[in-house]
Amino acid sequence: MSVAESTSCPVCHSSKSHQWKPHDQEVFTASKRSIQICESCGNAYSAPLPSYDEPGLSKDDLSSSSSFEQRLLDSFLEDRIKTIKRNRAKPPESESLLDIGAGSGAFARKAAQHGYEVTAIEPELLTKNNTAHAESLNLSWIHSYFDEEAVAKLQSKNQSFDCITLWHVLEHFPDPSSAIEQARRLLSPNGNIIVCVPRFGSKQAEFGGYGWTYLDRDHHFTQFSDKGLKQLIANKGLKIDKEISYSKEYDIFGWFQTWLNKKSRSENLLYLSKKKNIPTEQIDPRAAKTFLIRNSWIALFPAAWHVITSWVRRDPCCIYWILKKA
Ligand SMILES: [Zn+2]
Repeated sequence: MSVAESTSCPVCHSSKSHQWKPHDQEVFTASKRSIQICESCGNAYSAPLPSYDEPGLSKDDLSSSSSFEQRLLDSFLEDRIKTIKRNRAKPPESESLLDIGAGSGAFARKAAQHGYEVTAIEPELLTKNNTAHAESLNLSWIHSYFDEEAVAKLQSKNQSFDCITLWHVLEHFPDPSSAIEQARRLLSPNGNIIVCVPRFGSKQAEFGGYGWTYLDRDHHFTQFSDKGLKQLIANKGLKIDKEISYSKEYDIFGWFQTWLNKKSRSENLLYLSKKKNIPTEQIDPRAAKTFLIRNSWIALFPAAWHVITSWVRRDPCCIYWILKKA
């Protein structure tokens, strides 16, 4: 898909919308896009809509320079596995798992290590090292977009899955309704779909405004509201089995980075400084490092306060939605 001319809602295709006016109206200039709130379904979206060709951030290939960071990233992956194990409605003996939008494959490899029969689908290729690792784990990697053609191929092999995961992926689809519909077609009768998306309308989103770390206007088509996502789920013949309104992985980082964004008036310096293959015009690594060293410890205190209050109020920056067939 090239740059979209249409500014209609990616979820319900209505063109009736109004511009988002968060509490903090400061403009963050890294992106020229605005956020429109759909008056029909209550979700929001980037205007103009992004394109798949935009440089850079589709792949969650973070470079962790220290063993502390590596352990932290690993603990987040372990948390995802625990979430699945605790909350699957009826886990069978041997579970098949489909990870949609698998990025660098870190979660898919972790799930395979835990004994799941894993299929991962992702338009990016695995790196050489990760390919070798995936082969050693007997993990099936489908190099493709998650579209009708890919789903038809899986169905032709009679493949269905006990667990289908979309970790911060649904917001990247130009047509999220269709993606959920395709996922449902691949779900086994007692299976669960786990969807985790940034939560538009959360305290963190309102606080951050256009500096909210998970807004990512140039790569996210849709910003899901609770109401809008629930409507989409119901429309596709699914129902909510459980909601988990607590995320160590996303809440802590989200508050920390959002607080830094507001202080630096630039977007996601910490995140970008940890990404591989970022075009140099997006970030000056030395300036970013200097800013982070000076300011990170100051951001720790307000960020920690916000994390605690958002957990107490059950107002997280994202919810883990555990879905099953209606
Ligand atoms: Zn809509």
